[in-house]
Amino acid sequence: MDPSSLPIHWVSIFFFGGVHAVALLAPWFFSWSALGVMLVLHWLCASIGICLGYHRLLTHRSFRVPKPVEYFFATMGALAVQGGPTFWVAGHRQHHMYTEDVDKDPYSARRGFWWSHILWLFYDRPSVFDRKELVKYVPDLARDRYYQWLDRYFLLLQVPLGLALYALGGWSFVIYGLAVRLVLVWHATWLINSATHKWGYRRFDVSDNSRNLWWAALLTYGEGWHNNHHAQPNVAKAGLTWWELDPTWWVIRGLEMMGIAKRVIMPSELPPKKA
Ligand SMILES: [Zn+2]
Ligand SMILES: [Zn+2]
Repeated sequence: MDPSSLPIHWVSIFFFGGVHAVALLAPWFFSWSALGVMLVLHWLCASIGICLGYHRLLTHRSFRVPKPVEYFFATMGALAVQGGPTFWVAGHRQHHMYTEDVDKDPYSARRGFWWSHILWLFYDRPSVFDRKELVKYVPDLARDRYYQWLDRYFLLLQVPLGLALYALGGWSFVIYGLAVRLVLVWHATWLINSATHKWGYRRFDVSDNSRNLWWAALLTYGEGWHNNHHAQPNVAKAGLTWWELDPTWWVIRGLEMMGIAKRVIMPSELPPKKA
């Protein structure tokens, strides 16, 4: 498949371009409180929503929580505006099934850094955007009425959030709490598809080029230990040593200690990396 033969996804280009343009207004709307609000929402969306909710819970089922708690995490994920659960989870399950296959991995790193980072979103492929194709990968989510609702209306969740932010702190809160936060969360997530399939060290000699990259792990609350993750995708913990900081795991562990998270899958010994 040659990307130049694919239809361009104009809606996606204008949407991501538009939010980036608004985020560039940040210097004129700066306040410390707006920055604080942005950081709290960033953690809620990136760590709790995407990393813990969409990724480790919904995609890999690396632990279990009661349904209302699962819905809360999924809603935080939907607030990150990376699609509804079906789009995100189906895409990521394809990534693990066909890692780095130039056609079947939606964000194959073999197509280069920028393809795996963002360009994959700008070409309209049925395997990536068509609900009929995606539901094959998510039979567990496709039947769920709440996830069907989130798939349709995830973007609308920004409206009450934006109104609340405006009421609390005016345009400064809106620009930091929506646009700046979204852009930073997007790029952090995308770095896992691009940078951690390119730079860093390998603990496990897996068949793909996934790597552990400390600065990507810091930006993503632990997802940057991506070679560990590809070696054992269903494990709830991505950082395997004390210095591989994995703040999302700390939350999962806390939920386990409170009796909320159950059947938490832990790392097992894998054969050491060859040469
Ligand atoms: Zn990967
Ligand atoms: Zn994964």
